[in-house]
Amino acid sequence: MNETKKINHNLVGYNRALVFKQDLSTKDLYILDKLYRKLKKYMRTAAKIEDIDKLKEVDKRVRKLEYKLQEAWKFKRDKSHHKYWYRIPGCTCPIYDNDELLGIDMERISPNCPIHFEGN
Ligand SMILES: [Zn+2]
Repeated sequence: MNETKKINHNLVGYNRALVFKQDLSTKDLYILDKLYRKLKKYMRTAAKIEDIDKLKEVDKRVRKLEYKLQEAWKFKRDKSHHKYWYRIPGCTCPIYDNDELLGIDMERISPNCPIHFEGN
């Protein structure tokens, strides 16, 4: 890692240690900014939607975005580390349980979640 590399970017909101560990450039950070803005937009949109099919569409977009975020952070694509799909407004899957399962190829789906439960 180049210790003298200058990052010409406002790092507010970012884990600085991780930014340096992953050796992210200013350009990488601007890509991340863009992706996080998109994520916020999806979340805001979901909060206003009541139609379940439309919510499921937002869910698909969020999951694709999670992969893009991993790439931008220079992590390998890994579904088990996704943590935004169960934070979509309208989702009733347990946040704490799913946080605990990060890194493990398991998801805790609530049977009353209108977005993620595929039963019936
Ligand atoms: Zn859910």
